[in-house]
Amino acid sequence: MPLNKPPIAALFGWLARRRTLPGVAVLCYHGLRCDRDPEGVMPFEGIHVRASTFAAHCRAIVRYAHPISLDDWRASLGGERALPPRPVVITFDDGYRSVLTEGLPVLEALNLSAAVFVATGAVARNEMLWYDAVASARGEPAVEALKSLSHQEWAKAIDGVPCAVSRSDPRALLTPDEVAHLSASGRIEVGGHTENHPILARAPREVQAAEIQACADAIERWTGRRMRAFAYPNGRVGLDLSDETRQLVAAAGADLAFTAESGLARRGADRLLLPRFTITNGVTVAHLLNRIARSWS
Ligand SMILES: [Zn+2]
Repeated sequence: MPLNKPPIAALFGWLARRRTLPGVAVLCYHGLRCDRDPEGVMPFEGIHVRASTFAAHCRAIVRYAHPISLDDWRASLGGERALPPRPVVITFDDGYRSVLTEGLPVLEALNLSAAVFVATGAVARNEMLWYDAVASARGEPAVEALKSLSHQEWAKAIDGVPCAVSRSDPRALLTPDEVAHLSASGRIEVGGHTENHPILARAPREVQAAEIQACADAIERWTGRRMRAFAYPNGRVGLDLSDETRQLVAAAGADLAFTAESGLARRGADRLLLPRFTITNGVTVAHLLNRIARSWS
């Protein structure tokens, strides 16, 4: 069944509206791609959703669900107020600059909130993230191979890979000033995503702690606000993050932390191991509504 026709989207919207979710649907975006940018020019293009697709997703969320902020969620967890029937949280991983240039105008126009999880080391250095740099130099398969190395081998392997990137490149990350601007907008919570985006579970405890704390410190320095939310790089529970990782994220002050496991964040779930729905470029409005309302049940 084609899922991109407006009547199908409306049908899924109608079905969604009949639901009360037993938890929160957390959407995980990465970058956004300007509609004018040609296809096939950047690595991992699938996780950079077209700006017009993102806008359509947001309009559908407003129409058929109930967008909330992380603070709304905290208030409900603290018993201060109840969640609406179909709560949806929008998140972005990594800290791509396109969240500011393509995403913020959409969020502002629709009065939506979001969280952005920033890998602070590459932001501070005005560089690409290591996996974009490796994929650009050696192809995407080289990135997957590096993810299975020990932390030490990985660090050695990415040392010296060219990371320079222009501000207008879709692989560019936010600058520290832009991170501060997003935070000051009042609709974006800036959360942590480590300093260097390693596979945390492959690193020794002291390296994990340093990666998480350096990230928290940079966020506080840039925004004047404490890091309260966190997204684990790569995010597979047991593979990319361990019990030790979870403990260290809690010790750094996070009260909500997100994995890359797929699913609805059900009431009573571990607040430091919250699953999400990863949204890629092929996800139509109908797919999105189906995922929010039905896919997990
Ligand atoms: Zn990431």
